[in-house]
Amino acid sequence: MSTPQAVASAPTGLFIGGEWRDAETTFPVEDPGTGQQLREVSDGQPADAEAALDAAVQAQPAWAATPARERGEILRRSWQLMTDRADELALLMTMEMGKSLAESKAEVTYAAEFFRWFSEEAVRIEGRYAANPAGGSRLLTMKQPVGPCLLITPWNFPLAMGTRKIGPAIAAGCTMVVKPAQLTPLSMLRLAELLAEAGVPPGVLNVVPSSSAGKTVAPLMADPRLRKVSFTGSTPVGKTLMEQASANLLRVSMELGGNAPFLVFDDADIDAAVEGAVIAKMRNNGESCVAANRFHVAAAVAEEFTAKLADRMATMKVGHGAEPGTEVGPLIDADQRDKVAELVEDATGRGARAVTGGSAVDGDGYFFAPTVLADVPDGARILREEVFGPVAPVTSFGSEEEALALANGTEFGLVAYVFTRDLGRALRVAEGVETGMVGLNTGLVSNAAAPFGGVKASGFGREGGAEGIAEYLNLKYVALAVD
Ligand code: NAP
Repeated sequence: MSTPQAVASAPTGLFIGGEWRDAETTFPVEDPGTGQQLREVSDGQPADAEAALDAAVQAQPAWAATPARERGEILRRSWQLMTDRADELALLMTMEMGKSLAESKAEVTYAAEFFRWFSEEAVRIEGRYAANPAGGSRLLTMKQPVGPCLLITPWNFPLAMGTRKIGPAIAAGCTMVVKPAQLTPLSMLRLAELLAEAGVPPGVLNVVPSSSAGKTVAPLMADPRLRKVSFTGSTPVGKTLMEQASANLLRVSMELGGNAPFLVFDDADIDAAVEGAVIAKMRNNGESCVAANRFHVAAAVAEEFTAKLADRMATMKVGHGAEPGTEVGPLIDADQRDKVAELVEDATGRGARAVTGGSAVDGDGYFFAPTVLADVPDGARILREEVFGPVAPVTSFGSEEEALALANGTEFGLVAYVFTRDLGRALRVAEGVETGMVGLNTGLVSNAAAPFGGVKASGFGREGGAEGIAEYLNLKYVALAVD
């Protein structure tokens, strides 16, 4: 496959203080659909990260003083530019991340929506004024930008995981250093260029790609000028960052791993549950924190659900993400493909049955066949570990209590999917699941207008919705003496 213009023209430097710089060394970015190298990207070092924070610190006072309407207009222009260039952004994303073009376009729309949403929130940062209940004075509150932030993003949604941090940070008046994932830096670098064009002033947004994330960001985590870290990624890395943040008492937002249960009750509309399952499982090739990880289905309908889901998954077209008609692209790299294979082998070794799929696809790139596993026994690792691939393990349950216990039997708590037509049961289960989000008769919860986030080992903090901007604001209280 020849290199598309969207890839050949993408910036590859460090973006610091509104300028592009080359680092001393580079690292390669590859196409997971072929295993071929796409570009070499500047490899940021600790000194580059410090330079980026210097620029962010310098830009902070003027940015905080910029009228909210102006910050909102910049975000609105950014939404417009992303929308106008959706095709080019989507192709670039597909080439470095693998997902199909249709999925990449959906991500560009979703990612841009955070800019539109927070352009509207920028002008609604309000405080309150109240009388002291005891009389004699007044209480005034105001919200102010937290200050320079470090934003660390994963590879699975190269734009959306960035815009849902960058959008509220810009709206709130914070400056930032962004560390994109090593596997997918090109989309973020292209976005930085676009944001500058939309009017983001120099120093407000800085981007430092790096092949040594821990070493590169450690000095920033210890720098007292940094005020916040917002991280999306795995739970172990989140814990490391929490330790570092505690030494510097940074404000912290953590969007971590998931292990979403998908519950189908015997009163559910099974065809709707299967459609919801395909979305919740197969979106982003299964490489999503909100991917349905395990399917718990009422015994009376388990066979019907499993057969229908397998029929749908078996017909999905696997191929290079940029090929027309592809529905399932490659996994991000060989390690991820091998981990998925290992989890499937562990399950089948313990007695699970592959109704469709069950193995990696031979040839170039890192493909795994859409897979449905039936009769998955309790001890199988795939029920406990995040799969991050196109594999749906199905188990059955008897009572509602058992379903809830299965759903909650995990350290994670990001999202749960529940399919039932019984309103009372829907509400009981939605209240009973220990998660930050619930998909009730739907396989899609992501929405820029909604508060996205988890509990337990899935982290804390919310991105999107009216709540998302609060993560980037400090609350100040003023006691007013009144004679
Ligand atoms: P990851 O390995 O934790 O990496 C995430 C980001 O952290 C990358 O930019 C990575 O850089 C960086 N990083 C790695 N080690 C670091 C360290 N010691 N200090 C600072 N930064 C470090 O996660 P991933 O494999 O990219 O992403 C998949 C995980 O993200 C899954 O667990 C998924 O559930 C989770 N996720 C959660 C959400 C959510 O909203 N809850 C959304 C999407 C994904 P490198 O790229 O250089 O390693």
